[in-house]
Amino acid sequence: MPARMSQSHNVRMPRIGYGWDSHEFKPGIPLKIGGLTIPHHSGLAGHSDGDVLLHALTDALLGAIAAGDIGTYFPPTDPKWKGADSAAFVRQALKLVDEAGYLVGNIDSTLILAAPRIGPHATAIQQKVAELLGVEPSRVGIKAKTPEGMGTDNAAIAHVAVLLCEITWP
Ligand code: MG
Repeated sequence: MPARMSQSHNVRMPRIGYGWDSHEFKPGIPLKIGGLTIPHHSGLAGHSDGDVLLHALTDALLGAIAAGDIGTYFPPTDPKWKGADSAAFVRQALKLVDEAGYLVGNIDSTLILAAPRIGPHATAIQQKVAELLGVEPSRVGIKAKTPEGMGTDNAAIAHVAVLLCEITWP
C-alpha cells in the first residue's frame, strides 16, 4: 500500500466508536436508562446504577479514541462505584475525548428489551443523553426493539455508535 494511503497525517479524520452492554432485570430496584428513571416493577442490576445505555455510550466514546473501556477506569471491584450514577462514567469519557482533541458529532443507539416499552420515553431519553453530551437532541438517535425470541427477556441490551469530529481552531 502506498505510504499516502496508510498514513492519516494532513487528513482531518473523524473517528467512530462502538459500545455494547447488557444488564439483568431485578425486581424492586429503580430502572434507569439514558439517565432517565422509568417507572417499572424491575430495574437493571449492576455494581453501579445499571444504566445499560450510558455504559454502552461510555464504551463507544472510549473506543472512538482507543482509550480502553469502562472497566479500565471504573472497575466493578472498586466499592467507590457501587450504586454510582452512570452519568459520571460518560462525563469522564467525554473529558478524555476532549483532551484527545475531539467532540461528539452524533450518536446512534439501539436498545433491546422485552419490557417496558421504550417508545413513550424515547424523547425524554434523547433529551437526557443530549444534555449529558452537550449536543442538540437531533444528534442523538434512540431506537428500541423487543428481543423476539432471542431468549433475553429478563435483560436489557444496548448498542451505541458514536462519531467524533476533530476540534479545529481557526
Ligand atoms: Mg454495564
